[in-house]
Amino acid sequence: MKLVRVHAPGRYAIDEVPQPNPGPRDVVVRVGACGICGSDLHYVRQGYTRPGGEPLPLGHEAAGIVETVGEDVRGITPGIRVFINPECHDGTVMGNGGTEGAFAPRVLVREAVANKSLLPLPDSLTLAQAALMEPLAVGLHGVNRGQPTAESQVAVYGCGPIGLGAILWLARRGVRHIVAVDISDARLAFARQMGAHATINPLRENVAERLTELHGTGTAVMGQATVGTNVFYDMAGGKDVINSIVAMAQYHARLVITAVYLEPVPINLTDVLMRELEITTAGGYPSELPDVLAALPSIDPALLDAYVSHSFDFADFDEAIATAQRPDSAKVMVTFG
Ligand SMILES: [Zn+2]
Repeated sequence: MKLVRVHAPGRYAIDEVPQPNPGPRDVVVRVGACGICGSDLHYVRQGYTRPGGEPLPLGHEAAGIVETVGEDVRGITPGIRVFINPECHDGTVMGNGGTEGAFAPRVLVREAVANKSLLPLPDSLTLAQAALMEPLAVGLHGVNRGQPTAESQVAVYGCGPIGLGAILWLARRGVRHIVAVDISDARLAFARQMGAHATINPLRENVAERLTELHGTGTAVMGQATVGTNVFYDMAGGKDVINSIVAMAQYHARLVITAVYLEPVPINLTDVLMRELEITTAGGYPSELPDVLAALPSIDPALLDAYVSHSFDFADFDEAIATAQRPDSAKVMVTFG
């Protein structure tokens, strides 16, 4: 069968590999849909491989139909529709350095545990919608780390799939005012669909001035004007994002970083100190997958469909991954006919 693997910096291949060979405690899932993640693009760019230089299998946002169930597996039956939790039994992560990847017609789930490695799906969800659970869980964990309340005014920097997911959860939580910040107008339009109340494009607008218009001013810190935003989410990772936030944040504002920074970022800690700015990070989704699964059926399907800007058959994987790199894309979904 075919499996997408990273071989070298800037180079992936759709390799021919053997079909999965399940043991008595394993399950094989026929993949129905798998989303392309920013981390997939990152791994290709960097040319990450497995220990020993073995090519790295890609694909970790997948849902499918259980095909084969080992004789010792309990609670999982062939034919059920499942989301595949990318966290594997041995601590590795499918498509993130593990031995398996879901950009393939079939994926082997070793030591499968019902409701943990494989989450059964309600009938109302399509497999493509269920594959959104992973990025939505990352966005939800980011939101949770910021502890917004209904009274909060928030700014989300970066409206790729994680930022869009965060906006969806913030809107669902009834957060008072959500501003989306991105240099792509197409992504800002997606952000409005997800529930952002206002948008800022830093290529055309001064972010601090616009946030002052939208969120009012905060108390001045050391004579410097601040904005009334309570929680900032850095889901963008731009060069100047963190320091511009630090310079405009009001006393006791909060900054959550989910963006991946490849280089160290010097931060003005005097500004951080005088603001008592709380800076925290959010990586992955330690507890959010069940919450996302519980919430998904009550999310307007039109919203989930809007979150997927492009969809390609696995046969067109090259076009799919090229599209995922364009700033007018949100989530790009790969489906398996
Ligand atoms: Zn992902």
